[in-house]
Amino acid sequence: MSFSDLNLLQNVQHAIADEGYTNPTPIQQQAIPIILEGTDLVGCAQTGTGKTAAFAIPILNNLHRIVGSLSKRKLVRALIVTPTRELAIQIGESIDTYGKYTNIRQLTIFGGVSQVPQVDQLKKGIDILIATPGRLLDLHKQGFIDLDHLHFLVLDEADQMLDMGFINDVKKIIKLTPTNRQTLLFSATMPMAIRELADTFLTKAKYVSV
Ligand code: AMP
Repeated sequence: MSFSDLNLLQNVQHAIADEGYTNPTPIQQQAIPIILEGTDLVGCAQTGTGKTAAFAIPILNNLHRIVGSLSKRKLVRALIVTPTRELAIQIGESIDTYGKYTNIRQLTIFGGVSQVPQVDQLKKGIDILIATPGRLLDLHKQGFIDLDHLHFLVLDEADQMLDMGFINDVKKIIKLTPTNRQTLLFSATMPMAIRELADTFLTKAKYVSV
């Protein structure tokens, strides 16, 4: 299978070609069509499998259509929650890479640094927010983040968020988002608490594993 078999918009395909990628990895082959059709997904995959692109590419593809056609206003349409600052930064860089021929703006927020530049960026308007749980809840509580227009919620490295004690924060975050969202959960392992999370908060999810 090649990327041209996946029915992606030219803007997104060009950005992938610029990276020199010709073939989607196994997680990408399985996950991209499911995400494009609007179905909830549980992906069992480790870092290094191409997992980030497996969700970043179809989200950018579908948001480019929505943002391009419906409204020029920048509202948070996708939220990606991830356990660490390092992962958040990597995801933000991937979104910039695959989204370079779209007009989609991303912002990465995490704790341990001043919130002021993050709030300034939020006020300008963004389409995709990548966040660690604590800072997200903090800025939401202060009224700087509106999740009412969300289409996509991604829970990345869910088992790591569990191990780091973020599970209750994650549940709080999910409850702040619209119920008609599309939810994608990625985890390297599937302990009971993560299965329960998926059963509770995802709808008719398809499971893929690599
Ligand atoms: P990840 O699992 O998201 O951490 O990605 C692991 C690495 O694989 C990253 O450095 C990506 O740039 C790279 N990568 C992602 N998708 C592909 C692909 N289809 N072909 C080649 N490399 C890829």
